[in-house]
Amino acid sequence: MNDCLFCKIAAGEIPSSRVEETETLLAFDDVNPVAPSHVLIIPKKHIGSCLELAEDDRVMVGEIHLLAAKIAKQRGLADSGFRLVTNTGPNAGQSVFHLHYHLLGGRGMSWPPG
Ligand code: AMP
Repeated sequence: MNDCLFCKIAAGEIPSSRVEETETLLAFDDVNPVAPSHVLIIPKKHIGSCLELAEDDRVMVGEIHLLAAKIAKQRGLADSGFRLVTNTGPNAGQSVFHLHYHLLGGRGMSWPPG
């Protein structure tokens, strides 16, 4: 999508601190981290949120979880734990309308979230 920030990051038009990349996914550090480890995992193709996922996206969604686990292990978060979350819509505080998963770790987190 022309005007989408994360599409531009995926295309390399806007710089990011890249963590991992696959054929379909990109992982990069959040520019405003809220935990010692705060990585965003996005599909390279534009999907506005999980509400726009199609049957054909099943494999890609599974790959997001596998990539999150790989990054968590790389960063030493497997034992201490981490959170993988996708904000969807206004009540959840979604601010970028390109599907993304926050991988948060490196500190204790409360539940339920605020
Ligand atoms: P959400 O509020 O769930 O939509 O999350 C959007 C996230 O994108 C926020 O945590 C922002 O800090 C992050 N963000 C916004 N712009 C950039 C950018 N240029 N590079 C990396 N992360 C960004």
